[in-house]
Amino acid sequence: MTTPFLETPVEYLKGVGPARADLLKKELNIHTFGELLTFFPFRYVDRSKFYQIADIHDDSSYIQIKARIVHIQTIGALHHQRLVATARDASGEIDLVWFQGVKWVLEMLTPQQEYVIFGKPGIYNGRWNIPHPELEIPTQQPLPLSEVVRPIYNSTEKLKSKGLDFKGIGKLVRNILLNEKFIMPESLTPEIIQRLRLINRQEAFVNIHFPQSPELLKKAQTRLKFEELFYIQLRLAKQRHGRLLKHQGHKFLKVAEYVNQFYHHHLTFELTNAQKRVIKEIRVDLGSGNQMNRLLQGDVGSGKTLVALMTMLIALDNSFQSCLMAPTEILARQHFNSISGMLTGLNVVLKLLTGSTRPAERREIQEGLQNGTVHLLIGTHALIEENVKFRRLGLVVIDEQHRFGVAQRAKLWEKNVVTPHILVMTATPIPRTLAMTLYGDLDTSIIDELPPGRKPVVTKHVYEPEREKVFRFIREKIGEGRQVYIVFPLIQESETLDLKNLEDGYTAIIQVFPPPQYTVSMVHGRMKQKEKDDEMKRFLERKTQIMVATTVIEVGVDVPNASVMVIENAERFGLAQLHQLRGRVGRGSDQSYCILMSGFELSAEARKRISTMVRTNDGFEIAETDLQLRGPGDLQGTQQSGIMDLRIADIVKDEKILKFARSLASEIISNDPMLSKKENDILALHLLNMDKKQQNWGLIS
Ligand code: ADP
Ligand code: MG
Repeated sequence: MTTPFLETPVEYLKGVGPARADLLKKELNIHTFGELLTFFPFRYVDRSKFYQIADIHDDSSYIQIKARIVHIQTIGALHHQRLVATARDASGEIDLVWFQGVKWVLEMLTPQQEYVIFGKPGIYNGRWNIPHPELEIPTQQPLPLSEVVRPIYNSTEKLKSKGLDFKGIGKLVRNILLNEKFIMPESLTPEIIQRLRLINRQEAFVNIHFPQSPELLKKAQTRLKFEELFYIQLRLAKQRHGRLLKHQGHKFLKVAEYVNQFYHHHLTFELTNAQKRVIKEIRVDLGSGNQMNRLLQGDVGSGKTLVALMTMLIALDNSFQSCLMAPTEILARQHFNSISGMLTGLNVVLKLLTGSTRPAERREIQEGLQNGTVHLLIGTHALIEENVKFRRLGLVVIDEQHRFGVAQRAKLWEKNVVTPHILVMTATPIPRTLAMTLYGDLDTSIIDELPPGRKPVVTKHVYEPEREKVFRFIREKIGEGRQVYIVFPLIQESETLDLKNLEDGYTAIIQVFPPPQYTVSMVHGRMKQKEKDDEMKRFLERKTQIMVATTVIEVGVDVPNASVMVIENAERFGLAQLHQLRGRVGRGSDQSYCILMSGFELSAEARKRISTMVRTNDGFEIAETDLQLRGPGDLQGTQQSGIMDLRIADIVKDEKILKFARSLASEIISNDPMLSKKENDILALHLLNMDKKQQNWGLIS
């Protein structure tokens, strides 16, 4: 929703000449009045509150103090002169520093006078100071409400050099808001506004920039956060609905021979309740006549592969082929081996197709796929890139979604007239809020229970000086016949350095665990696939006892006899990565251990990551902590999702608003899928407008 006034190029704004306009475009991507208005303050300072000088502890934000000037001096020669005034409150002292306008400030400052001082503290020579603060003489009257909250805008060095610091930007914004042509058209229906008791859009924009009171600021924030999240959810709901309409699904109504045989005669254990529930959810999808598009989340070892296999057997019972795609060749082979094992004795034809499949065999597989004699195909995602054709492809299972882009998923759509059902499996739990936004077009199933008898991995944080103890423990476990992983971090400055780091580690390990008594393997990312596979195989066959590796072992590899994992420089790993790594042990019947090694000096974040790992094995809890520590920006898959473009909402902090937005959006779409009803005109129009602005949106999901 916009108006000609809001579309006016920013150079026509009072206070903006060509130079500033240019900078606004380059630095902040602001071209129009309207865009400047959506550049919201990133924080607010409450002017009725004062900081104690002794409480100043970070140099990142603006603060306000009330203090007396106790000392004034100028330092340096004429042209490099600076003025330092020391201010004191009951709690301590801080320096105020001016590098420019020294003469003028000197005249203005009154010694022993108390001032309200506003600025951004920094550290110089180990002492806190505030460069170029703003000073005011305190007044006795309480501030009028409309001046209590002060907006702070992000700025850049270049903008500041043209007078556009947070105050300068605020002035420009004010120029727009005070113009008589300023109208902010409404983007929500009267019904929504009433139901949620939101303030209107115009009022929200005024108050987000110049809060008339703390209370109105809060209302403005709620209104704008809701609007932002609501439109993301509305778009997702509409797309999802559209997909259901467009993509008729194969109906798998039968559960027959294959499933029954497998279930009653081949399955050596009872399914967990979580597995049963998920299979039920999948069966409902498969029988609905719509195409299934489901995300299956569950920790490593929770039995996802088994669920996938049962689903493939259902497809087979309905005379359809399936394929399973893994992110790497090792994983594809592992899936192939374990699924072949589970299917022995059943009349199912299963093939493996990867980059290293020989041409002759490849042709044979292609033929089998086309005449329908091959039932299940397992491979890397090269499967969809290459010209592989199926006779009747009914189901695609994708393992480890986060390595598998949305665009690739979309390719599957094109392959068949009727789109196959899609089951995406991931062992990297996704926090709920993120999943709602990131994978809003997928339905989600969660396996939140491990098969019985699993002993949770015992995790310990060990400091460097106690390394000897760790080595003793390793010897003991090897003596009992177990195997051990020792993982080194990628330092990422250069591959060569990383390799050196690993090789040094390897050499050190060999010295402690010398041959022939001990045998040590090494795997790293720069080895050829074949070499890697061979080393992994030696470890799997117990020909080596210790596997020294970088994070290449992170995904998938399954060596149940390995019961100890030592992670070197654990502080260098992200939480998700630590969790994935730990998933490599605890796969057998023995008690397993994960030892996180680090020095004493740790950042607060690293400490939190390590203590989270020690405290819990729950992947979802770990994922939530990860999201809180890092924000969504660094998490895999978020870049393309649009949640990074959020201007005001925060999917971690605004979970409640997000949920509300989601349920309202889906309610509206289920009543009016195309938003064609008169009362929803305003929503349809706003959505269209946003699509025009952000062309990329259409490509997502
Ligand atoms: P995921 O794919 O989630 O990592 P898998 O399906 O590979 O997990 O299962 C891990 C191991 O647990 C496999 O050896 C599998 O046979 C076994 N398993 C799966 N479900 C059960 C169950 N309900 N009871 C006992 N063992 C199970
Ligand atoms: Mg698995």
